[in-house]
Amino acid sequence: MDFFPIFLDIRNRACLVVGGGTVAAQKTESLLRAGAHVIIVAPLLCPELRERMSGRSLKGRIAHRAEVFSSQHLEGVVLVVAATGNAGIDREVSQAAGQRHIPVNVVDDPALCSFIMPAIVDRSPVLIAASTGGASPVLARLLRARLETLIPAAYGRLAAYAAAFRARVKQQFPQPDKRRRFWEEILQGPFAEMVLAGKDQAAKDYLERSLKHDGYRSDDSSSTQDAMVAGEVYLVGAGPGNPDLLTFRAMRLMQRADVVVYDRLVSPEILDMVRRDATRIYAGKERSRHAMPQESINDLLVRLAKEGKRVLRLKGGDPFIFGRGGEEIETLSSQGIPFQVVPGITAASGAASFAGIPLTHRDYAQSCVFVTGHLKDGSVNLDWDMLARPNQTIVIYMGLLGLPVLCAQLAAHGLPASTPAAIVQQGTTRNQRVLTGTLETLPLLTAEANLAPPTLIIVGQVVRLHQQLAWFNPAPDLNASETGAVR
Ligand code: SAH
Repeated sequence: MDFFPIFLDIRNRACLVVGGGTVAAQKTESLLRAGAHVIIVAPLLCPELRERMSGRSLKGRIAHRAEVFSSQHLEGVVLVVAATGNAGIDREVSQAAGQRHIPVNVVDDPALCSFIMPAIVDRSPVLIAASTGGASPVLARLLRARLETLIPAAYGRLAAYAAAFRARVKQQFPQPDKRRRFWEEILQGPFAEMVLAGKDQAAKDYLERSLKHDGYRSDDSSSTQDAMVAGEVYLVGAGPGNPDLLTFRAMRLMQRADVVVYDRLVSPEILDMVRRDATRIYAGKERSRHAMPQESINDLLVRLAKEGKRVLRLKGGDPFIFGRGGEEIETLSSQGIPFQVVPGITAASGAASFAGIPLTHRDYAQSCVFVTGHLKDGSVNLDWDMLARPNQTIVIYMGLLGLPVLCAQLAAHGLPASTPAAIVQQGTTRNQRVLTGTLETLPLLTAEANLAPPTLIIVGQVVRLHQQLAWFNPAPDLNASETGAVR
């Protein structure tokens, strides 16, 4: 270990920043965030610092001396940062601080530093500091970026609750072992999940109940199990197939689940990312051949949760867009099962972005409607007049079988047969294919192309932009397009 890591309390302490440029401004900002009084010594200040000086909110916590550095500036100071960009002055600051045993940091010059500043992930009061010992600040920042994705934004609130309940928990569990076990379960269990999901009141109630429950136990040698036996269901959108498009929350819950109930649309790559030892249950949904009727899925979720399991109901795209998520949570709520819904990127957004077809556009479409092309009795019976409007994009889910009828009806209800239309196979994945044509040509193009599900249909003038914009997709290999003439 080249450095000894510590967290320093500099609230209301004087810290000196030598230099008035943008780097000095960043360091000043960090010191202010930690509650310091900052004195800036520099003949001139950059605009950011000038603006900061004039801000009212700081109430005298920042002062400027328009002078050249001298050792007198170190009087009463607990920490020094030199960011002048002038090697001579920086060295002078470092030496003067060293003689007085004041911790000093010289930006980008580890040899002159008695301390270095880490890259931080700030979830106050939780702070994570990463350092490469000055070897590579960029590497430290990359590491920080990875940590940012791992630590939910609400972790600070979780810590704040732990602080608020700490004394009571200590009183209730005088033995450190039991206390530790209680906290381990609380901080990994439904309480934590409720805080992270923003359900603060429910979380507090839960913690109160858990404390009370354990208070009455004559023998709490095992754990707080009983208080936590209630299972829960996470209804999670897994996005359109590309694992990169999962949300952080989806990822986190995928690691927590005891059992996962998943659809056909959930790609194997994504399923692979679910906790290894979670039980996997396929709930199917192939067109016209449902592997499991919806009612059975609803009942299964309830049963598993009642067994105390953390159930991940993983769905393609977004659970609330043609996902029957509404029906599933109705059953859960009627049975009093706790649940949360996590949105996902719906196929329309995913496929459109990856195909370079903006769904709205100032010149071409001011509205966008999502419809299903698959109706209960097998017929396609939509509000055609509402759909066949100018300056509107229509996205059709589950429309492959009905495509000829869809195109014919839209034309019959007033859209020109030359209206551009596209079909996107397995959007966002390595197997994405995009066919473009018109209402008139797309059905035939599609029939000849032998597409593999799932596919999404996009109708409207925005489809014209596909050829131009697909180029800008960061993964051009995904855009193997076969484009018919757009008249
Ligand atoms: N809840 C899902 C939609 C479920 S309905 C969502 O929000 O995306 C299933 C239909 O979604 C499929 O028939 C297809 O039309 C569409 N779909 C889902 N994933 C797709 C993908 N990767 N590419 C193209 N279409 C997709």
